[in-house]
Amino acid sequence: GMGLMKGRRGLIMGLANDKSIAWGIAKALADQGAELAFSYQGEALKRRVEPLAAEIGSDFLAECDVSDEASIDALFDNIRTRWDSLDFVVHAIGFSDKDQLRGRYADTTRDNFLMTMDISVYSFTAVARRAAAMMPNGGSMLTMTYYGAERVMPHYNVMGVAKAALEASVRYLAEDLGKDGIRVNSISAGPIKTLAASGIGDFRYILKWNELNSPLRRNVSQDEVGKSALYLLSDLGSGVTGETHHVDSGYHIVGMKAVDAPDI
Ligand code: NAD
Repeated sequence: GMGLMKGRRGLIMGLANDKSIAWGIAKALADQGAELAFSYQGEALKRRVEPLAAEIGSDFLAECDVSDEASIDALFDNIRTRWDSLDFVVHAIGFSDKDQLRGRYADTTRDNFLMTMDISVYSFTAVARRAAAMMPNGGSMLTMTYYGAERVMPHYNVMGVAKAALEASVRYLAEDLGKDGIRVNSISAGPIKTLAASGIGDFRYILKWNELNSPLRRNVSQDEVGKSALYLLSDLGSGVTGETHHVDSGYHIVGMKAVDAPDI
């Protein structure tokens, strides 16, 4: 790599396996010389995350369940044992009951609504506040969103409502933290086959639809999200904050796909 992230230290949250969007991002950052710490949810995932982290030169792993304030505090205590400052944070975490990622949004339960908002939205704000306290020289934060925040997509349901709130929180955080030289952005990724995505109803159909109807006529990869994350997390993105950046083969700009036989 060109060393765009040389001397930069950052936390990656949400790596589960080598299909994770967090893995595409981590590889792009490590390739440019970044030093990475990884948080994982529970001991079962540690066994998967440890060898991946090692592959890109990191042995800095810390447990964190973002639904628990004490666990987030413990994560940052853990980070401070090795690093006295942070340059960036990647939040690639979301969760909802998969039984409600199909059928009608109207049937979302109160319990699942609150849990989805807690894990998928509030956690970014909770992390941002603590990370900002470790960024005396400024920094950059990134979270992951989806077009279901802006338009109704089949089966996305309560997660769409959560992503809309997440995107709004990115704007409010960008304003709060901007005066400290901290930038806050999100990437709105097109559909990618990951563990989390496989919980969404008809996901293979959604992938195919995006492939057929996006301007680039294909889906995006974890590595492509990684390259755009590198831009937002490095000095290449120094003038950008509060943004929702689409990495979706252009799908979000299409109103209606051109028809091949227009003589209707
Ligand atoms: P993934 O399953 O690889 O990652 C999801 C991660 O969330 C996992 O590492 C999981 O451990 C973590 N997580 C869930 N609950 C947690 C908790 N309570 N505490 C800590 N961690 C928790 O799937 P992914 O698709 O890479 O998802 C990453 C992000 O990208 C999510 O926010 C997702 O909504 C978003 N996204 C995904 C797609 C897609 O099509 N895959 C598209 C746009 C946005």
